[in-house]
Amino acid sequence: MLSIPINLNLPRTPRLVTSLPGPRAQAIVQRDRAVTSPSYTRDYPLVASRGQGCMVEDVDGNVFLDMTAGIAVTATGHAHPEVVKAIQEQSERLLHMSGTDFYYEPMVELAEQLAIRAPFPHPQSHTGFPAKVFFTNSGAESNEGAIKLARYYTKRSLIVAFLGAFHGRTYGAMSLTGSKTVQRANFGPLLPGVTHIPYGTHASLDYLEEQLFTTILPPSEVAAIVVEAIQGEGGYIVPEDGFLKRIRDICDRHGILMVVDEVQAGMGRTGRLFAIEHWGVMPDIITIAKGIASGLPLGAILARPELMTWPPGSHATTFGGNPVACAAGIATLRLLESGLMTNSTQMGELLQASLNELHQKFPRVSPPRGKGLMVAVDLLDEQGNLDYRLRDRVIQEAFLRGLLLLGCGKAAIRFCPPLVIDSEQIQIALQIISEVLKMRESRE
Ligand code: PLP
Repeated sequence: MLSIPINLNLPRTPRLVTSLPGPRAQAIVQRDRAVTSPSYTRDYPLVASRGQGCMVEDVDGNVFLDMTAGIAVTATGHAHPEVVKAIQEQSERLLHMSGTDFYYEPMVELAEQLAIRAPFPHPQSHTGFPAKVFFTNSGAESNEGAIKLARYYTKRSLIVAFLGAFHGRTYGAMSLTGSKTVQRANFGPLLPGVTHIPYGTHASLDYLEEQLFTTILPPSEVAAIVVEAIQGEGGYIVPEDGFLKRIRDICDRHGILMVVDEVQAGMGRTGRLFAIEHWGVMPDIITIAKGIASGLPLGAILARPELMTWPPGSHATTFGGNPVACAAGIATLRLLESGLMTNSTQMGELLQASLNELHQKFPRVSPPRGKGLMVAVDLLDEQGNLDYRLRDRVIQEAFLRGLLLLGCGKAAIRFCPPLVIDSEQIQIALQIISEVLKMRESRE
């Protein structure tokens, strides 16, 4: 291990002290290449050493402004002291006991906290909770379990999913994913009985109802329609008004379960705990992960209580609902509700307003879209077509100026910072992107 210099307090804006990547980063990237799977998708050589709030320090002491939150995960910011304290206290008490075979309070407490907040109908069950919770270790595992639950409950096998969707990379979740061919090529056969339709439009639901349901897809055999409230990897696509409500209606008409994947959009990122709440639609099952524990691996399936009829042994996992991850989840929820979701709404508005200004100045940036701190813009060529090469260059050059960005969709840059971001940091991010675009314009 290299010994890494640590600054106790990171600056709140980028600070570069070496050329990038610095010598320590280069050495680690080289070691990584020799031993880790080439399937990871690293766009630039950030070798993170420490994080605080919205800032990440690399192994050479360079400090970056993070508009990625480690792919929309560190909701409360990197190493929020209250989350760290909860993790420390819980780790000293109990690291693991497996909620599959035993009981421990942090798992029950987080399940209660999530269940009372689930956007499901008022409870009719004697428990008084509108949901039951199954804990997992990741988004893919949450979706995997949701597929099993939907099939188990409905005794049906078919599933409708959406083009552009990303639900994970295990076999069931991958079968629902409709994002990029590289994610599927040479892995087949996948789960049978999954039909993908375009995302977000009424025209697509017309096609489902008028064409598919009357020809090759008997609705009486469909177990679930699985949908992201806002499509994430697909490009931060906000659906047309009424789209999600109409899926609810279709499900009700045919006894189909509505499964909403909130892995990326959930846990306060859009300004509501669950993004589906923006549309007032109550699904049957919600899957979550990413932001739920501020960085510890945790996911969950929330289902209306009457759906969780599967018997003991039918579904379980050794690590899901680990006590330390649950303690981090409880602290995360508390922080989300004591200001971070409000900040997400306010900073999201500022971010969209600033990106609109950027669009006015640089026509090769599309108008922004999204909700809260789940926002994206497309990069365009001179004819107004999506330009992924320009997007990739902007991301690279932003990194070289101390700004961490990620792409999504075909040519979009996504902004999914920790929810602790402030207005100064948003302005700095926009300033850096503006400089990059100006420099490119002057070169062209
Ligand atoms: N669902 C959505 C909407 C996602 O964005 C992702 C990951 O990006 C997943 C599921 C898969 O989550 P994980 O990578 O934790 O398996």
